[in-house]
Amino acid sequence: MTPIASQRYVDDAADLIHLSDELRETLSIPQRELTVQVPLTLDDGTHRILQGYRVQHNRARGPYKGGIRYHSDVDLAETRSLAGLMTWKTALVDIPFGGAKGGVRVDSTVLSDTELERLTRRFTEALGAAIGVYRDIPAPDVNTDARVMAWIMDEFASRDSYSPAVVTGKPVELGGAPGRESATGRGAVDVLEAHLNAHDSCLSDVTVAIQGFGNVGSWMARTLDERGARVVAVTDVSGGMYNPSGLHVAALLAHTRSGGLLAAFDGHGDHIANHEFVGLEADVLAPAALGQVIGTENAHEVKASIVLEGANDPTSPEADDILSDRDIVVIPDILANAGGVTGSYFEWTQNIQQFQWTEDRFNDELQGRLSRAYEKTLATAHEHGVSLRRGAFALGVQRVASAITLRGHR
Ligand code: NAD
Repeated sequence: MTPIASQRYVDDAADLIHLSDELRETLSIPQRELTVQVPLTLDDGTHRILQGYRVQHNRARGPYKGGIRYHSDVDLAETRSLAGLMTWKTALVDIPFGGAKGGVRVDSTVLSDTELERLTRRFTEALGAAIGVYRDIPAPDVNTDARVMAWIMDEFASRDSYSPAVVTGKPVELGGAPGRESATGRGAVDVLEAHLNAHDSCLSDVTVAIQGFGNVGSWMARTLDERGARVVAVTDVSGGMYNPSGLHVAALLAHTRSGGLLAAFDGHGDHIANHEFVGLEADVLAPAALGQVIGTENAHEVKASIVLEGANDPTSPEADDILSDRDIVVIPDILANAGGVTGSYFEWTQNIQQFQWTEDRFNDELQGRLSRAYEKTLATAHEHGVSLRRGAFALGVQRVASAITLRGHR
């Protein structure tokens, strides 16, 4: 079995907290892995057979929780790695969930809406009883959105009861939580603000470069702009814009909201290619697109003093060492982008209680929970004399190990 990519951090955490061999083994292997066939009839009547995955890593602290992505790179190894990250992330922000991840290996960007709906319904059917309100709760991830979650909810209801809490990230009209859509990007800014405040600084002191202008990147840019930080670069799949004096974030959002790519944006600033992102002049580098963008080949190019990991797994472990040696602070993915799953938890509780919060309450609860998670992470890092990433993993692994021990299923 391919090991979980973040296993090195888990092993380091296990050493730091003196975990028993038995618990180490329990945590290194997912509890369940599903590989399913997803037949898809295209609009022209032809058929394709796709592969879908759901990896349920650990549920010691609560039901499995994690997103579903549609991408041509999806495979079992990637899904397994991301499922493990969810276990540590939910534990780190102290919400009552375990970790899972799923996806279908497909280039969904070339599918029509009806093909996408058929694909989603067949995938949900294939997952069968593996998902459920208190069993495993999917959410959006790369190339899946509120509409896809609505189809999953509807398909689940067709064989079970009406259960909006079976999936999070739904449209607000169907039990989605006001605030959930912005929660990952906003939460990353909450964590960055907590970090700056803990080091006698604030958002208006910093410049930020963001890679990715989708859900996470665009909400990050908007929230940073609202709170006084200077967003100097944003990129998407087509390339991006850079302006050391600060970009006009509202104009960029208006451009992309109407479907435009950043390479076609005509405004103040210079056009840049994606390979230039890592070496940009900015205080904070925020990768918020795909994984593995900072590796050994470019970690020495980083000029920022802080890397804020909006995306999952954007830094290789070897690059993490290089950044650490260069005294560059990495705010790790399991903390920086935990606003998404925290917001999902708020949505799930609201669905179960059938009581909708206001968006202000949602945002306040999010900021409170993420600031506390940051403070705990910082304290754990200080206690062990390690980086924020190692502190975050030590805290997450410790909480999951305690739950396993208390439940007695060793
Ligand atoms: P998204 O599909 O909404 O947006 C992805 C963005 O990345 C788009 O702007 C796209 O153009 C850009 N992009 C794609 N390929 C690129 C490339 N090669 N170079 C530069 N930019 C590229 O996805 P998202 O929901 O914003 O997720 C982004 C990352 O954040 C993923 O790693 C995801 O796992 C992680 N994440 C998302 C959430 C969430 O709630 N959406 C939560 C936690 C983590």
